[in-house]
Amino acid sequence: MGRVTGRVCLVTGAARGIGRAIAEALLDEGADVCFADLNGERVAELATENAARAEAAGGRVMSAQVNVTKRDEVRAMMQKVAAEFGRVDVVFNNAGVNRPMNFLDVTEDNWHFIMDINGLGTLIGMQEAAHQMIAQGGGGKIINTASIASRQGFDNVAPYCASKWAVVSLTQSGARDLAKHDITVTGFAPGVVATEMWEEVDRDLMEIGAAQAPGQAMEEFASGILRGRVARPADITGTTTFLASPDSDYMTGQIVMIDGGMTL
Ligand code: NAD
Repeated sequence: MGRVTGRVCLVTGAARGIGRAIAEALLDEGADVCFADLNGERVAELATENAARAEAAGGRVMSAQVNVTKRDEVRAMMQKVAAEFGRVDVVFNNAGVNRPMNFLDVTEDNWHFIMDINGLGTLIGMQEAAHQMIAQGGGGKIINTASIASRQGFDNVAPYCASKWAVVSLTQSGARDLAKHDITVTGFAPGVVATEMWEEVDRDLMEIGAAQAPGQAMEEFASGILRGRVARPADITGTTTFLASPDSDYMTGQIVMIDGGMTL
């Protein structure tokens, strides 16, 4: 028996990075997993690539193309998973973006882009997950991706920090409102994780003169991490599988920090 055998799990932002690692770790522990992402082509490939992995652990795998800011698409995704796997037990609202900009130059477009995906996308994902879980008779787990940026402010990423503080707040509010349906809401807050997101962050930081070379920002962060290095996606998945498993059933409203001691 795996830690999440028999559980139907859905992960957004699963085309790469942290989301992909979460989804693959759930497969290894026996879950039925839907990889969901704006990049529908890539998640379809990942579903094919992971078919043998799912079979080896006794689970199933599928994919869904979704824009997490579009309610009709998110609802259709929940229905598609329920039609294929029978129900939805665990939903990870993980899709997120970061587009650094100097505080004084932050535009309305930058704010709306980030808040829509990280904030509104999380709210819609929570609501549509909960509607599906309630329709099944209640019970389930919603797990949101926060960040160290939901604990403190950082230079040049004000809207990102605001959006991730929103994720914490939504996690707490959702935990309160959904408790009566036996739905728990938790989250996890990674520190700095080496993913392709950082290529985009580096590009923007260099464009505004806040970094001189790719990798510089990550290196500067690494020097302040008690564990002595930035995280790999695999450093996150022990906790995310735990949050999806029965072992975390008594937890709700909490955000687990996975930052290597960066915020102490
Ligand atoms: P990433 O950029 O590598 O992957 C993000 C995925 O989200 C991509 O596959 C992208 O296509 C998808 N996505 C973007 N917009 C979407 C939308 N509207 N609808 C559906 N999918 C969409 O990022 P990552 O580093 O794997 O980060 C994943 C999550 O972890 C994000 O919420 C991020 O804010 C958070 N996080 C990352 C770090 C880090 O250092 N990498 C640290 C803390 C928190």
